[in-house]
Amino acid sequence: MTATTETFFDQVTRYFNNAARFTTYPEGLLAQIRCCNSIYRFDFPLRRADGLIEVIHGWRVEHSHHKLPTKGGIRFAPDVHEEEVMALAALMTYKCSIVDVPYGGAKGGIKIDPTQYTVEELERITRRYTHELVKKNFIGPGIDVPAPDYGTGEREMAWIADTYSALHPGDLDAIGCVTGKPLSQGGVNGRREATGRGLFFAIREACAQADDMKALGLTTGLEGKRVVVQGLGNVGYHAAKFCREAGALVIAIAERDGAIANPKGLDEEAVFQHRKGGASILTFPGATPLASIAAALEMDCDILIPAALENQFTAENAPRIRAKIILEGANGPTTPDADPIFRQKGVMVIPDIYANAGGVTVSYFEWLKNLSHVRFGRLSKRHEEANERQMLKAIELATGKPFTEQQRADLAKGPDELDLVNSGLEETMINAYHGLRDTRKKHPDVPDLRTAAFLTAIHKVARSYMELGIFP
Ligand code: NAD
Repeated sequence: MTATTETFFDQVTRYFNNAARFTTYPEGLLAQIRCCNSIYRFDFPLRRADGLIEVIHGWRVEHSHHKLPTKGGIRFAPDVHEEEVMALAALMTYKCSIVDVPYGGAKGGIKIDPTQYTVEELERITRRYTHELVKKNFIGPGIDVPAPDYGTGEREMAWIADTYSALHPGDLDAIGCVTGKPLSQGGVNGRREATGRGLFFAIREACAQADDMKALGLTTGLEGKRVVVQGLGNVGYHAAKFCREAGALVIAIAERDGAIANPKGLDEEAVFQHRKGGASILTFPGATPLASIAAALEMDCDILIPAALENQFTAENAPRIRAKIILEGANGPTTPDADPIFRQKGVMVIPDIYANAGGVTVSYFEWLKNLSHVRFGRLSKRHEEANERQMLKAIELATGKPFTEQQRADLAKGPDELDLVNSGLEETMINAYHGLRDTRKKHPDVPDLRTAAFLTAIHKVARSYMELGIFP
């Protein structure tokens, strides 16, 4: 199949098959893992503010029911289509298994450009979409749990939770039907920035491996590394922020309307604030506008973070990419034709199905919080603080040296919800990274981290089916 006729779902299948070659599972089992278990496509009318009726197209795809509920974001984009939602749902299955989050993969899409609708219209679209999912049993805390994705955020998730709850009166777990909600609506601290923070943990761990960095001609650590980010939305903004705070220099940012560069480093918050007022990124003071978005992607840099949409790196532009590491924030930014070119050039690609798994990891924590009906740390924070104070007292008695008030406050601090969420995310991302490295050690012929990631996922999903006794 050529790149031109290949859909995004075909591309995911190609990656899957590349990894499946390293297994001996029966073809029937691999086919069952690969295919989308349920696809729901629907249309509904919207009366626009000017009185005209428009037909809105929506999808929800549940890729794998090997674990329930299924889980995956909802995308609002003008060119979203069924194959794209299928591909994204499949990636969710593999992503969840890599980070040991006990869900099957799913994804949703509504074919709209959200910037062309009023807030009231967006609310009606989102609520009606939720109704449609309820009608067909495609949503629920134990069935299928959406989350934010491209073009959606906390506001849309709050509308979904409210609509679902209204249709399920008395269901104590109703708000667990969706994650990525605002805190006041059952969200969890740390979810908003979780995907970007997860990307940061991933790149920090990658840059801590002396052998890998040496092979790339880089020093260990993030300090001073030159970063280019494409897309200053939820994922790109937070990835840039955490990398900058760790000492990296964000030397270029690309957005829909163009790209800017500053070799001394850009402040993502200042760029974000500048754009918020409706100004173009190209007029941001203190930076040089670049000729195109492509010029940013092709800059000489250490870490390139695509955080917009899929299909950014193809066989056509891959030879011109000069980054040493590509950290995939977006889903599917690298086509299977570009991947071997990167491998040949010695570019390290940290694949989407691992790198951007921080979002679903913290969504899992939010869901657990919703089902347990209690904030993380609420029962233990004070108790832990009291224990730590006792310990400090014992040390003071033994050494004869009292701690200062500040030291006491710093040392005897029970963890609050954000501490626990971030620590759980850090643990997950670090363990998963080493899981991929272990897979490569076990299969020395596996050529790169992406194949290792797919292979890791295939093994975990296959085990789940085999332990059900469905396959020998
Ligand atoms: P978002 O809507 O918050 O931000 C996307 C940004 O990309 C927008 O600012 C948009 O203007 C910009 N953009 C669009 N086309 C562009 C282009 N050609 N060049 C440069 N910028 C462009 O979306 P998001 O939630 O940050 O998602 C971005 C990507 O990350 C998507 O692929 C999504 O599937 C993936 N992702 C998101 C999450 C999450 O938690 N939100 C989790 C995992 C993966």
